[in-house]
Amino acid sequence: DNILISARGLSVGFQIGKGLFDKRVLKAVNGVDVDIERGSFFGLVGESGSGKTTLGRAFLKAVPITEGSASYTDGEVSYDLTTLDGADLKDYRKRAQLIFQDPYAALSPRMTVRDIIAEPLEVMGLTKTREETDARVREIAAKCRLNLEHLRRFPHAFSGGQRQRISIARALVSGPKFVVADESVAALDVSIQADVLNLLKELQRDLGITFMFISHDLSVVAHTCDHVAVMYLGRLVESAPTRQLFEAPRHPYTKALFSAIPSLDPDDTKSAQKLEGEIPSPTNQPPGCKFHTRCPFAVDRCKVEEPKLEHADGTGHEVACHRWVELMEQHAL
Ligand code: SF4
Repeated sequence: DNILISARGLSVGFQIGKGLFDKRVLKAVNGVDVDIERGSFFGLVGESGSGKTTLGRAFLKAVPITEGSASYTDGEVSYDLTTLDGADLKDYRKRAQLIFQDPYAALSPRMTVRDIIAEPLEVMGLTKTREETDARVREIAAKCRLNLEHLRRFPHAFSGGQRQRISIARALVSGPKFVVADESVAALDVSIQADVLNLLKELQRDLGITFMFISHDLSVVAHTCDHVAVMYLGRLVESAPTRQLFEAPRHPYTKALFSAIPSLDPDDTKSAQKLEGEIPSPTNQPPGCKFHTRCPFAVDRCKVEEPKLEHADGTGHEVACHRWVELMEQHAL
């Protein structure tokens, strides 16, 4: 089938206990089931503390998966991400890459743009001669719309948008099939954000890259992603094709997130539901549905029983809420 990344019951736990008798574990990601289609632009949204960055890192093998399973299948190779190591892990590093959040912090000020982009090729031993490396750097720099004259310069000479293009070229130089972009436009001005997003979409189409686009900004996700998953306190609470999610959200949290986007229409009164309160601390999670402390529709059952992700009305739409059918029928969502 057409799935690049697949996870079942994936959890990432960090030890937070301070000793032999204090073995507390913080589950930053808790029992996530997800499938990411090959060639798609998959959005992952949530507030800070939702676990979205940790989930992205788990797929890149940058944090250990502590429970459940995850796999990567690209047509050439298939890897079990829970056990991957040695030569296979080395191979996976060139297939799965990260674009950093902050283009100002990510680039070494003492390296030329050419050397910054070339470094992964050298570290991974993907090219044999300097000419081969240069040819590959120029090819990917051109695809990322960088001026080739600029390859000799140092990153401080460039604006935020150009630096982000340098980071993108560096991430793509090894020819990855899967790229995690973590808040990759958050540090940029809105007008430049659009440029960078258009570039990522172009690269998705031209190079057949599957993007996992992590963002707290729903308006950015709406314009870029084919499919969006929403996380809350380490759980996936809703997942659907973008249009469906925006037109017919089935989880009260998703609905509340949308209501927080200011409407351009002054007559629009449907934004009545506000998201009250803060996301609970991941170290002190409520029982039952993790959203019950902020959900306007919570009933007693929600406080004790955690809802499972199930199919909602619509292809590829999943939701984890005890009351979604009832709320839909009452037009509460
Ligand atoms: Fe709200 Fe209950 Fe649904 Fe959780 S399960 S989102 S508390 S209605």
